[in-house]
Amino acid sequence: MSEKKIATIAVRAGLNSDQQHGGVIPAIHLSSTYALKGFNEKRQFDYSRTGNPTRATFAQAIADLEQGAVGIVTSTGMSAVHLICQLLSVEDTVVIPHDCYGGSFRLFTHLAKRGQFNLVVVDQNDQTALAQALSTKPKLVLIETPSNPLLRLVDIATITAQAHQAGALVAVDNTFLSPVLQQPLLLGADIVFHSTTKYINGHSDVVGGVVVTKEQALGEELAWWANCIGITGSAFDSYLALRGLKTLPIRMKQHQINANAVAQFLVQHDAVAQVYFPGLADHPQHELAKQQQNDFGVMMSFEIKGGVAAVKTLFARLQLFTLAQSLGGVESLISHPSTMTHAGMAVEAQLVAGISASLVRLSVGIEDIADILADLSQALDASQQ
Ligand SMILES: *Cc1c(COP(=O)(O)O)cnc(C)c1O
Repeated sequence: MSEKKIATIAVRAGLNSDQQHGGVIPAIHLSSTYALKGFNEKRQFDYSRTGNPTRATFAQAIADLEQGAVGIVTSTGMSAVHLICQLLSVEDTVVIPHDCYGGSFRLFTHLAKRGQFNLVVVDQNDQTALAQALSTKPKLVLIETPSNPLLRLVDIATITAQAHQAGALVAVDNTFLSPVLQQPLLLGADIVFHSTTKYINGHSDVVGGVVVTKEQALGEELAWWANCIGITGSAFDSYLALRGLKTLPIRMKQHQINANAVAQFLVQHDAVAQVYFPGLADHPQHELAKQQQNDFGVMMSFEIKGGVAAVKTLFARLQLFTLAQSLGGVESLISHPSTMTHAGMAVEAQLVAGISASLVRLSVGIEDIADILADLSQALDASQQ
């Protein structure tokens, strides 16, 4: 049969696999352990840390969506990153982007400080700095695009080709776009990973992660480590995430329509000084976004006029945007990077990174767009009074 389209894979993952009752939806398998058939006669599953039918179904679904060989479901997005770190020995070097997810930055810097590997932090859009980093012959290059919270992009195919020439493996954090909007393995990457907490589950009721490898052998090595260090995802979370996954393609469609409309609205609003969104023609990597992504994505940030006072009023007046970190759920969220997601950074470092106190980040949900715009409009107007 021909390659299935993304929406078909997402909806049909694991269907009709219940041999016993013919249940259309795969059952949830909560058992921690599995009986052997007899002395030294194993079944497919023996112990749920190592393997679980519900988790396996979810893992296969994501592997299919990313067009990879092996999917490994982890307990959180951070444990997906930690799993990838298992590929690094003390003499190895890893290159990470200067503006990667704060939790990933913290993990890499602290493990490097303890001597578990060498770390090079680089702006991957700085060709000279990247070439210098690759000249250290790293074992692994981490890519994250678009970045948080300023939505900067890097060119996955180009950096991957350069990294491969230097002998490195490439792992891409695809959390912000999901496999619906970007497929890094098809751009040459060896590993793609997600915090499934975000778009893949999509309902803000699971914390989870997944790692997908292009090659079977690398996937088996990582699956071995996932069991060894005990970071595989739970059956219940896998069940929920598989349920969320069914509507991922249709959710992303509506998220995208709403996000485009919000960006256009913000650009013309007097209270807004600057909008960071790859879908805007003046975004520095608008052309790259068109080429590398299937659409522009849903996340955006903007600078409000009037400083912290305006930010406070905006948050107080908004009714449809909940003030909370995280992203990717069906509900709209708003956050303040400098006091929330990036509070761990010194203020000077925040300013170097382009994160001012006037910057707010939106995760645009799938509520009715007329209601979203009306809410933003009244709150932005109030913020300037
Ligand atoms: C949330 C997030 C993570 C970490 O995932 P958790 O599920 O919170 O552990 C990693 N990368 C990105 C880009 C994220 O947004």
